[in-house]
Amino acid sequence: MSRHFSELACTAAMSASLLLAGCAPTEISSSTSEVSQAQLRGHIEFLAADSLKGRDTGSVGYQVAADYVAAEFSKLGLKPAGNSGSYFQEVPLVEARRVKGSAGVTLHTSGGDVVLQFPQQFTMRPDLVEASQQLTADLVFVGYGIVADEYDHDDYRGLEVEGKIAVMLTGRPQSWPTEEGAHLGSGRQKARYAAEHGAVGRIIVHTPRDEKVFPYEENFPYLDVPRMNWLDGTGKPDAYWPQLQGDAFLNLDAAAELFAGAPTPLEEIYQADTEGKPVRGFELPGAATLSRQSSHRKLSSPNIVAVLEGSDPKLKQEYLVYSAHLDHLGVIKGENGEDDIYNGAMDNAAGIAIMLETARALQQQPLKRSVLFVAVTGEEKGLLGAGYYARNPTVPRDAMVANINLDMPVLVFPFADVIAFGADHSNLKSTVEKAAHQAGITLTPDPMPEQAIFVRSDHYRFVQQGIPAIYLATGFTSKNPEENGEVLWQKFNKEHYHQASDQADLPIDYESAAIFTQININIGRDICNQEQRPAWNEGDFFGRAFN
Ligand SMILES: [Zn+2]
Repeated sequence: MSRHFSELACTAAMSASLLLAGCAPTEISSSTSEVSQAQLRGHIEFLAADSLKGRDTGSVGYQVAADYVAAEFSKLGLKPAGNSGSYFQEVPLVEARRVKGSAGVTLHTSGGDVVLQFPQQFTMRPDLVEASQQLTADLVFVGYGIVADEYDHDDYRGLEVEGKIAVMLTGRPQSWPTEEGAHLGSGRQKARYAAEHGAVGRIIVHTPRDEKVFPYEENFPYLDVPRMNWLDGTGKPDAYWPQLQGDAFLNLDAAAELFAGAPTPLEEIYQADTEGKPVRGFELPGAATLSRQSSHRKLSSPNIVAVLEGSDPKLKQEYLVYSAHLDHLGVIKGENGEDDIYNGAMDNAAGIAIMLETARALQQQPLKRSVLFVAVTGEEKGLLGAGYYARNPTVPRDAMVANINLDMPVLVFPFADVIAFGADHSNLKSTVEKAAHQAGITLTPDPMPEQAIFVRSDHYRFVQQGIPAIYLATGFTSKNPEENGEVLWQKFNKEHYHQASDQADLPIDYESAAIFTQININIGRDICNQEQRPAWNEGDFFGRAFN
């Protein structure tokens, strides 16, 4: 799973009612004999080995992992579905690094210039195209910086933004449904709204509400992580807005400096945000200068794509797409200056292993529709490989009937329930419910909506192309009444998620991994053999937003 980027949103605290642990699960009613625990273990141990050096996008270790997946596809008898008759679809990428010491934010106030401190008061990403930028412009506060017709919400209404720096809060109105809100309040959407209203830069302001969920300091380990995106046929990075010549993310202190002398005190704005009341924009006094230098490198890294052909002469022209990201974080300097390998056993060697074993099981049974298996690159850099594939599919876009994404199943206890992010938006929900039930597992609602997980993994890029998708995760209930599944889940999240310790020597519960795989097999079998292709729910937000 990719990390939470600061522009992303959060909502209300966890709803305790959804976190009831310890409910007695039903007995497992169907066997998991279709799945070999030994195979799952083998894939994870290979992909998470130190020699692959954390499978960083574009690295040699990633390429070895890619060759491994291609070889497994080949052994299973799946046909290549990448480019030029191969299993590989090369994704052209650009990587940008901020030149050390070049990030600057100066506020020009009536009381004189205020130079903010990096990174204590602000963080800044490099630009994907320009080597050197310095932008000075007036400031306008635009609330959350969101335009959403569905909620009759337009933060830009009545504001003069042309040629100015748009200043916006992180997050979005907390009354909105979480998944819709996570989409509308994503950094990508907010950049787009700003650019479309003529802004020349953005300043994103942290809030006390967001600080509780994603403390500002949590950005520090990622300060020097390069920014990356895929390039279209003209060499332009995806979702790049050239008119936005600067952006910065301010902590609470720096925000207070920025709002000194504002017509509405920042405290009042924060209070409205916390209480779910409307936040209105206005012209801010003063101006700001944003500056940075960025260096660039072009590279490429493959998605690995295979197809299992369906048997029905007509339906075989339709594809169910399984996706799982193969990349992880690579090698990062540890606290003591030594190199730490981020092996990514759970994130996401486990997802790849489950996809491969799903392929093995599905390949042994009659299926009417075809199945595409896509191991994607660049997920940790911002869902890049999936974005590239969804926009440049190797089958017709309309032929992709659904996406099932596999990313970091937390397999450290005998889970009794699963969460299906995205299931509330299409009739895939009933498919998942049935598939889980067949494996003795229940489907429960998202217990952590404030994490906005719906927009944090690869299925979201398929959703953005109008394709119904789900992302299945293990829930918070353990079959073992002696254990609190939520505590174990959160412990994994805190101690091992995006840490060097996410490696194959974790106590991975392979029996649970097999059950999780079985559920994904059941889902695939159902989708491939049902008469009608999956459909968005009538009038669903996501069904309408991208079609
Ligand atoms: Zn991750």
